[in-house]
Amino acid sequence: MEIAIDKDVCIGAGQCALTAPNVFTQDDDGFSALLPGREDGGGDPLVREAARACPVGAITVSES
Ligand code: SF4
Repeated sequence: MEIAIDKDVCIGAGQCALTAPNVFTQDDDGFSALLPGREDGGGDPLVREAARACPVGAITVSES
């Protein structure tokens, strides 16, 4: 799984980190970031939920 965060689109709403806290976090500026070692989602089914939860559609999930 590949996860892409469009930081130009992200508004720092934090829904991704709330929805899938084992994969997403927020950086010092409040924008979404992937946790170290979880760049591939770590098999967490909540990744897709997090992508849906993002109010601005900044997260793209694709199978690699
Ligand atoms: S939910 Fe979307 S807008 Fe909010 S921090 Fe995550 S990627 Fe950014």
